[in-house]
Amino acid sequence: MPPVAKHFKTSSERTGKEYREVHEWLDNDPEKKAERHDLTKIYEYGKMIEEKYGEEARNEYIRHLHDDVKTKFEHLQHDLEKTIADTLAYFGVK
Ligand SMILES: [Zn+2]
Repeated sequence: MPPVAKHFKTSSERTGKEYREVHEWLDNDPEKKAERHDLTKIYEYGKMIEEKYGEEARNEYIRHLHDDVKTKFEHLQHDLEKTIADTLAYFGVK
C-alpha cells in the first residue's frame, strides 16, 4: 500500500484537496486498518464518509482502496516474475 502521504498527493492532483481526514482515517490506526480497507464495507463506509465530508471525499475513499489494491497486485506480480525467473535459472533454463 502506498504510504498515507502518497494518498494526499494523489487526491490533491485529482481534486485540488488532500482529503487528509479520509486517508488518515483509513491508514493511521493499525488496529482498524484492515477493517477500514475491507471492500465488503465500501457502501457502509462510503455513505458514512459522504455524510461527514461530502461526495468528493467519498470518491477519494473509494479511489484510495483502488490504489492500495492496485499497488498490492503490482508487488505480487513483481514477486511472481522474480520467483519464476529464479526457478528457471535454478533448473538451468535460459
Ligand atoms: Zn490504505
